[in-house]
Amino acid sequence: MKLTTDYYDIDDLLSTEHKLIRQSVRDFVDNEIKPVIDDAAQHHHDIPDLMKKLGSVGALGPYIPEEYGGAGLDQMSYGLIMQELERGDSAVRSAASVQSSLVMYPIYTYGSEEQKRQFLPKLASGDFIGSFGLTEPNHGSNPGGMETKLTKDGENYRLNGAKMWITNSPICDIAVVWAKDEEGKIRGIIVERDMQGFSTPETLNKWSLRASKTGEFVFDNVLIKEENILPHVNSLRGPLSCLNSARYGISWGVIGAAIDCYESALNYSLERNQFGKPIASYQLQQKKLAEFITEITKAQLLCWRLGTLKNENKATPEQISMAKRNNVKMALDIARESRQIIGAMGIVGEFPMMRHAANLESVITYEGTHDVHLLITGADITGINAFV
Ligand SMILES: Cc1cc2nc3c(=O)[nH]c(=O)nc-3n(C[C@H](O)[C@H](O)[C@H](O)COP(=O)(O)OP(=O)(O)OC[C@H]3O[C@@H](n4cnc5c(N)ncnc54)[C@H](O)[C@@H]3O)c2cc1C
Repeated sequence: MKLTTDYYDIDDLLSTEHKLIRQSVRDFVDNEIKPVIDDAAQHHHDIPDLMKKLGSVGALGPYIPEEYGGAGLDQMSYGLIMQELERGDSAVRSAASVQSSLVMYPIYTYGSEEQKRQFLPKLASGDFIGSFGLTEPNHGSNPGGMETKLTKDGENYRLNGAKMWITNSPICDIAVVWAKDEEGKIRGIIVERDMQGFSTPETLNKWSLRASKTGEFVFDNVLIKEENILPHVNSLRGPLSCLNSARYGISWGVIGAAIDCYESALNYSLERNQFGKPIASYQLQQKKLAEFITEITKAQLLCWRLGTLKNENKATPEQISMAKRNNVKMALDIARESRQIIGAMGIVGEFPMMRHAANLESVITYEGTHDVHLLITGADITGINAFV
């Protein structure tokens, strides 16, 4: 019997530090997330103090330099942290992804020194919760068509428009929002909770990511000062670079969800007897389990290589697209199939499969849909862009 999910000894390729970081986040998930996640998801509430807890284990902006409150870790560490968090729940990993890659990353990369010092340490500790506003009611896969407008008003600016499907919008303290200026250039703006005209209605009745809040942003003539605009970016490259970083984290994260489903199914199948034998002894169940570990292993190798390329600053957006697309589908398939292995038990909250499967329905759509990532690969290999 081989109960490991490190089938190809990928641990040999990790440093001692990587393994220590992974273990500390694994312990955090086992102690702080697993005991409460089913209740949070069933009752559609977030986990109390989640962001501060994530901050305390270094999961918020792990690769942001220490002088700005981050942990100064490499990209492999970031990936391993995301994997462990999503072993708990995609909502937990999503919270850490948004804060790290979609809020801290743009402030660190495109912000002024004052903006970095003002916001990054509070975001790293979880004292501030950040959100990222790109998607709009009429523009999801096509963010370049955005209608949210930043217009000049004397020395200052006014922000008008709306964003939707925004992770943590109802509870955010600040939001990095993307809007078009009067020249049609895409600007990044740090919107603060108490700004007049800024509201964040919650999106209710979700069947997915129920332990995470999702909502809208409404900007009704919000007064924006120059000091809240990110000075070093004025094109779609800004939000797309954030998404690259977040998609990289998702590629790793979903392996955690897949491992949680695989381990639960394997253990159950060894203990559950039908027709006088463990269900693990039947070929049809072994086929499923063998395919799960094969797909998990392939996904791990993809991520390990992507992590080394990321560390060398050589990972292309297309390579990240491929990993996001492949690994999310892999995890979703494993969640659905592993639910079947445990029969009726698979529909109750005692086991994680239904929750992971429902969560992964969001993950396969957000940060670029499954189909759009396929078209990105298609455009890369043929030189022909098929999505416009
Ligand atoms: C739980 C959740 C959290 C989210 N969090 C955030 C967040 O924090 N911030 C944020 O900005 N956004 C967020 N999103 C939004 C997410 O990124 C978008 O939903 C996603 O980009 C897809 O946009 P859409 O839903 O408008 O789908 P659409 O773009 O309308 O696409 C619908 C379908 O059409 C397909 N399609 C679109 N264009 C083409 C084409 N050219 N060729 C072929 N097929 C195409 C798509 O693949 C998809 O299957 C979140 C979404 C969810 C569900």
